[in-house]
Amino acid sequence: MRVFNFAAGPSTLPLPVLEQAQKELLDYQGTGMSITEMSHRGKPFMAVNQEANALLRELMNIPDNYSVLFVQGGASQQFAAVPLNLLQKGKADYVLTGNFASKAYEEGLKYGDMAVAASSKEDNYTFIPDMKDVKFRDGIDYVHTTYNNTIFGTRYTELPKTDATLVTDMSSCILSEEVDVSKFGLIYAGAKKNIAPAGLTIVIVRKDLLGKALPICPTMLNYAVQDKNDSLYNTPPCFPIYVSLLVFRYLKSLGGVKAMQKINEEKAKMLYDFIDNSSFYTNKVRAKDRSIMNVPFVSPSAELDAKFVAEASKNGLVSLKGHRITGGMRASIYNAMPIEGVVALIDFMKKFELENK
Ligand SMILES: *Cc1c(COP(=O)(O)O)cnc(C)c1O
Repeated sequence: MRVFNFAAGPSTLPLPVLEQAQKELLDYQGTGMSITEMSHRGKPFMAVNQEANALLRELMNIPDNYSVLFVQGGASQQFAAVPLNLLQKGKADYVLTGNFASKAYEEGLKYGDMAVAASSKEDNYTFIPDMKDVKFRDGIDYVHTTYNNTIFGTRYTELPKTDATLVTDMSSCILSEEVDVSKFGLIYAGAKKNIAPAGLTIVIVRKDLLGKALPICPTMLNYAVQDKNDSLYNTPPCFPIYVSLLVFRYLKSLGGVKAMQKINEEKAKMLYDFIDNSSFYTNKVRAKDRSIMNVPFVSPSAELDAKFVAEASKNGLVSLKGHRITGGMRASIYNAMPIEGVVALIDFMKKFELENK
C-alpha cells in the first residue's frame, strides 16, 4: 500500500509518473530494453534529454539567453561549481539562512574572498533577513541566496537589492511557484526534492556568464563545457532525466507552475492555519517567510514529538521526523504531495492532540 510520504528528500513522486515508469521499464517504446540500458547517444535517449530540457524551459518560462544544464553531484556540488565558474574579481557575498546556505558559503571560502552579508543564525534561522536592509560589498561577482530553506521552513518573498549577479539554490522549491528567471544570473537545484530521483542537478545559467571559469575548474563542473555538449559531455544520469521528463509532462497536464503554485499555497495554508489555531502545535517561523514546501512544527515536548512521529507512521503518514538539527517534526509538502495527504495529516494531528493534551 502507498503511504503519504512527507520526506524532505529523496521524496514522493506523482503516482501516474511512477506507474508510467513502471510500465515502460522493461520495454521503452518498443526498443525491447529500458531507458537505463541504452546508449545516451542513441535516438531514444537523446529525444528524452531534448524534450526534458525544452519542457523545463516552457514550465519555468526560461528566456532564450539562458542555458539549462543537466548535471550531477547534487546541489552540494554546485556550492563549489558556482565560485569556480563565476569568480572573476574573486569576491562574493552570501546570505546565511540555514544549513545549506552555510555549507555553500564554507565551500566558497576555498575559492575566494567571501563575506556574510546577512544571517538569521542568531534566531535559529526562523526568518529571512529583510532584503531592503542588506548591503552588499562593492566589486563582488555574485550574491548567493538559498531560496527555500528545507530544514528551517523559510522562503524568500523579496530578492536582494544588488547589481551583482544573483545566484540562488532552489533545490527544495523549483517548479513550486512562479519565479522570474530573468532576475537571476544562475539558479541551481538538486532534482531529488521536487522533481525526480537523486542523481540529477539542474543548472539554469545566463549565457553571458559562461566561458569564464577559473583555470582550476574541473572540466565536469565547467558550465560552458556542459552547455556546448548539451549536457552530454559524459554519460548523464539517464534514468533521473527520464523521470524528470515524465514529471514535467505531468506538471504541464495539471496546468503548469501557476496551477501548481495555487495548489501548493492552498496545502500550506491549511496546515499553517491549523497549527496557528492550535495551542498544542507550534511553528516558529516568521509568518511572511514561511515556506510553502517544508513545514516544521513541534508539539509541547520532545517525548510527544517522538510519539507523534511513530504513531503517524503507523497511520500511513511517514517521514515526519524533523531534521536532526532542529528536532520536532517537518512535513515536506512538495508538488507531488496531494491535498488528501495534507488533509490526512491534519486529521491525525487533531486526533493526536486530543489523546495527548
Ligand atoms: C537538499 C538540499 C541541498 C543538498 O542537495 P544534494 O542534492 O543532496 O546535494 C542543497 N540545498 C538545498 C536548499 C537543499 O534543500
